[in-house]
Parts: sequence; structure tokens; C-alpha cells
Amino acid sequence: MTTTTESLLAAEAERAGVTRRAESRADAPVPAVRVRGLFKRYGDGTEANRGIDLDVRRGEVVSVLGPNGAGKTTFLRQLTTELRPTGGRVSVFGVDAVAEPLRTKRLMGITPQEAGLFESLTVREHLEFFARFKRLSKREARAAAHEVIAELGLVAETDKRVGALSGGQRRRILIGLALLGRPPLLVLDEPTTGLDPSSRRAVWGVLRRAVAGGATVILSTHYMEEAERLSDRVGIITQGRLIAFGTLDELLARLERSYRLSYRDPLDPRGDARARYCASFAEAQQHVAREMLSEYSIARASLEDVYFTLTGEPFDKDETEATL
Ligand code: ATP
Repeated sequence: MTTTTESLLAAEAERAGVTRRAESRADAPVPAVRVRGLFKRYGDGTEANRGIDLDVRRGEVVSVLGPNGAGKTTFLRQLTTELRPTGGRVSVFGVDAVAEPLRTKRLMGITPQEAGLFESLTVREHLEFFARFKRLSKREARAAAHEVIAELGLVAETDKRVGALSGGQRRRILIGLALLGRPPLLVLDEPTTGLDPSSRRAVWGVLRRAVAGGATVILSTHYMEEAERLSDRVGIITQGRLIAFGTLDELLARLERSYRLSYRDPLDPRGDARARYCASFAEAQQHVAREMLSEYSIARASLEDVYFTLTGEPFDKDETEATL
């Protein structure tokens, strides 16, 4: 990153009261994102967000989970000012996102769930074009594109037309567009959907490096492992409401029965796997002994267990007989 780019962003951040170094969480005066009473009713009457309150601290990674149609994209698009809230307030580093959308948008890099790309541009041209759009000079845009291409493992595709890329490669470009210019806030809607496992891990690395450099990240995902491994805190949205928000330990503490016994019925060993939640390891062991189970495992509940319990979503069909 060149000095001019740094100073440009620093000036914008200064205006918004953002210091780009990672701050100690306790003394951060203004959160990266503050949401109060966020409400969104679409024109057809759908209430996609129904009173969301949330603070995202500077330098943290927050993941938002929830079933399809729960309201995650609607929520993120109001943060990024693409959608105007029906009610409530959003501020980004203290800037009122509804009153000052342009100034707010300059503080963030965005990866939408879906977006058109310019098919006839090459990967390098595309990134340079958007870097210029973000007010970087020609030289800075070239350097920023080069940096992002390397980070996202797209070096071999640098001069390929975007139209000739695979789905996963296009997804990585969308993430790259968010990273250009190193904005202090990244808002990423399902950034790794469609990526192969190794590309997904590469993206986690990119995001961790951005956070180490002072960025704050808020993302939505359907991958529990991603939320577990990447986030400081996880929010669960269902039917437009944020029904849970906290660290993994805080969420796990909401389960009354936090041990998961997975087993096969000894009378039907070729049948579907089953699951049962227990209050303690000892209770799970007692069940194993009582039922004379021979094929089983006992584990602490995971984020996935919290998710299914709190959202009331059904388990995978091979576990429909789970005892909850
Ligand atoms: P997914 O996981 O499938 O991406 P989501 O949690 O992101 O889902 P949203 O896209 O925010 O959910 O949609 C929330 C609700 O709002 C859904 O019922 C959806 O049908 C509705 N919705 C979304 N966009 C519009 C729109 N433009 N007009 C009317 N209703 C909409």
C-alpha cells in the first residue's frame, strides 16, 4: 500500500473517528458498527428485519448465521447503505449510515451475495478499475490489484477474461473487490459460498490478515465451521430477529444439555445415525450402558447444535429421530 492511499484512507477514517491500528476492545469509544431497532419492511409487506440491536467492536470478526430467508442479507444490505431501513438506526464508526450513506460507504469494503462482474475485462483490469473507483491513483490501483490477486491465489488468472473464470474464481474476485484500498470495515455476504475447502481456508487467512491489520469484519455464512473458526462472536438471525449473539462459549452456555451422543441403534446397525443431547458426560455414558450401545461417540455440543436448537430447524433427515 502506498503512502498516498494510506493517507487518503487515514483522512477518511480520521473524519469518522477511526484509528486504523487495532484498538483494545475495552477502551474503544465508538463501536465499528452500532445497530439499534433495525426494522425492514419490503414493499410487499414482508418484514425481513424486526428490531435488531447489535454492536460490533472494532477489530472483531462477527458471523451471522440463520436459515434461508431469515433476513441476513437484508440486515447486511442496510449496514452497507444499499437498503434504507424502514425503522431504526445504523452507524459505522459513529457515522450515521442512513443520513450519510456516501461517507459511510467509504469506510467499508463489500462482498455482496451476488453481483455482476464485467465479463470482458481481465482479472487485473477488473480490480484496477474498481480500485480507481475507490479513488486510488493509477499507480496505487495497479499495486492494490497486484496485491489482492496474489493474496487470493489468482496469479495464474491475472490476464484471463472474467467471463472465462470458474464460479469459485469469480467469488474470489468479489472478495478481492472488498479488500481493495484496505477499508477499516469489511461486510461480506456469504463470502466463501461455492469455494473449495482449500480456497475457503485461503480466504480465512486473508480475512485474518486484514483483522491483524486493524480491520473489522462482519459476514454471513451457512458454514458452521467457518463461523466457529473465524469469529470472535456469532449472531443467529431467524424470522428477522437476532435471537442469539455472543462468543461460542456464551452460545454453548445457552444449551441445557450440552453433550451430544451420536450412535447407531444396536438392533438396527445399518439404519440411520441418531443423536441425543445429555446434560453431562456421565448422563451420556449411562445412556450408552442402558441401551447397550456399541457404536457411538460423545462430544461437547458444537455451534451446529446451538444453531439447530435455537432456530428450531430440523436436523438432517438421517437424524430425524434424534432425541432433543
Ligand atoms: P439466504 O440465506 O437464503 O440468503 P437471508 O437470510 O439472507 O436468506 P433475505 O434475503 O434477507 O434472507 O430475505 C429475508 C426475507 O425477505 C425473505 O422472506 C425474502 O423473501 C424477503 N425479501 C428479500 N428481498 C426482498 C424484496 N426485494 N422484496 C420483498 N421481499 C424480499
